[in-house]
Amino acid sequence: MGKINLLTKDTFNKIAAGEVVERPASVVKELVENSIDAGATEIYVEIQSGGEELIKIVDNGEGILEEDLRNAFLPHATSKIRTADDLFSIHTMGFRGEALSSIASVSKILTRSKTKEQDGREILIEGGEIRYEKYSSMDQGTLMEIRDLFYNVPARKKFLKTPSREGAIISEIVSKISMAHPSISFFLVVDGKEMLRTYGTGNQKDVIRQVYSKKVHDHVFYFENHFDSFSIFGFIGHEEISRGSRAHETIFVNKRLVQSKVITTAAEKAFKSFATVSRFPFFVINIGIFPELIDVNIHPQKAEIKFEDDAHMFKSVFGTIHQSLREGLQETFKIQEE
Ligand code: ADP
Ligand code: MG
Repeated sequence: MGKINLLTKDTFNKIAAGEVVERPASVVKELVENSIDAGATEIYVEIQSGGEELIKIVDNGEGILEEDLRNAFLPHATSKIRTADDLFSIHTMGFRGEALSSIASVSKILTRSKTKEQDGREILIEGGEIRYEKYSSMDQGTLMEIRDLFYNVPARKKFLKTPSREGAIISEIVSKISMAHPSISFFLVVDGKEMLRTYGTGNQKDVIRQVYSKKVHDHVFYFENHFDSFSIFGFIGHEEISRGSRAHETIFVNKRLVQSKVITTAAEKAFKSFATVSRFPFFVINIGIFPELIDVNIHPQKAEIKFEDDAHMFKSVFGTIHQSLREGLQETFKIQEE
């Protein structure tokens, strides 16, 4: 007998799921991004036991069409791109069509969804198998309840941290996503306790106050700058609110939470020019750039981003933040002198 095995569909799906769904927070991130893509203005997130027991997301977005509901849970099913060419002009958070199929294959997922025109539908999928689909009476939008995450992948379950640690990771992700979308009101409940509420005022500084504190809100300087192919805006913190870790450094590119060495280094270097302490700055940096000039397709969880012109990006971020800090600190100094 040969040595090569053909994997069953079930095994293959579980392996693929591992790339998208690393932990409960990845489920929350994918589902919240789907709600954003659906044009929701209100997103409710509830978790129990670090998301292992329950992850519940309710949005008031456009909903899923009756005829699409089953298909949404198939691998590579997406309404967001058609061909590889579309990858160069992505305006949505999702595009791989992998999240729902991955989540469905490693959990029990109940979905209820209603579009404006059609009746609501409900579907229950367990470990990738459809249990039933039926009519559901509800308002426009989508509800997803994920229970028993990784119940059929014990190895993955074992590797999870404590519920409180997983819950903290989820809170952090929801908080950061809420900052990128100040026009959407977010409500996060962890084990029955309200953890975060934002009001959709459209103002990022309001969200900074909800996510962090009044003190942080009162110690940030705004910056904004426009270049040929991209714009930058955001907030850099006074050293008063600097930290021993990078936990309060946040970068969004086209509203997507990303990691970028280039931007991080540029911002930290600008901060260091004025700092009297050797700590990490608070910042929220928003970059709006033509989608053609970035590559978001290099990581399954779409985290690390690549720019076409790194040197230009570095200079622009450094210059913008440096100027904002210089002017902001001068202003603060003047007020103190008076
Ligand atoms: P992707 O987001 O990459 O397209 P997903 O697996 O996350 O793939 O979702 C599959 C499809 O299901 C989406 O393209 C979208 O059409 C639909 N969908 C998922 N979540 C929602 C939601 N909350 N509201 C409306 N449609 C949704
Ligand atoms: Mg998605």
